[in-house]
Amino acid sequence: MYKYKTENEEQTQLVANQIANKLKPNDVLTLDGDLGAGKTTFTKGLAKGLGVKRTVNSPTYTIVKEYKGQLPFYHMDVYRLEDSDEDIGFDDYFNAEGVTVIEWSSFIRDFIPVERLEIVIEKIDEQTREITLIPHGEHFKELCKGIQL
Ligand code: ADP
Ligand code: MG
Repeated sequence: MYKYKTENEEQTQLVANQIANKLKPNDVLTLDGDLGAGKTTFTKGLAKGLGVKRTVNSPTYTIVKEYKGQLPFYHMDVYRLEDSDEDIGFDDYFNAEGVTVIEWSSFIRDFIPVERLEIVIEKIDEQTREITLIPHGEHFKELCKGIQL
């Protein structure tokens, strides 16, 4: 488990950016934390690190948005799937040779692969966030080493 305290959006994205540089096809990252914690901000940092040129916004009307970078980038926000057992074809995304990031992953717990990078963001105060990285599997354990603010 790795913890980072960030004091602004840029620092949060700096952590995300370092992760992005080490991602491989079919990697899955989960992002959990309250509304306004910084999940989408973190996702923007990942996207930049993956060379996505388009602006990444919260997928409000769709569950998944697809972007093109060095790897395909799938940004999911499954908030609206709370209390639903609906499978929108999650495995197809996870195995599509891209990188998948899932905001509010706790709402689709049954569909989340064991091997993943679990990211939890906690709001400490207006500007301060605590980012916790919990790697599941060897690849993500290796990936987390050396990430620093
Ligand atoms: P979520 O997707 O978790 O609902 P967002 O990323 O959309 O959260 O929003 C986070 C908000 O918190 C943004 O308005 C951002 O500017 C603000 N913020 C303040 N400090 C930080 C920080 N250290 N890291 C990330 N976001 C921060
Ligand atoms: Mg969000």
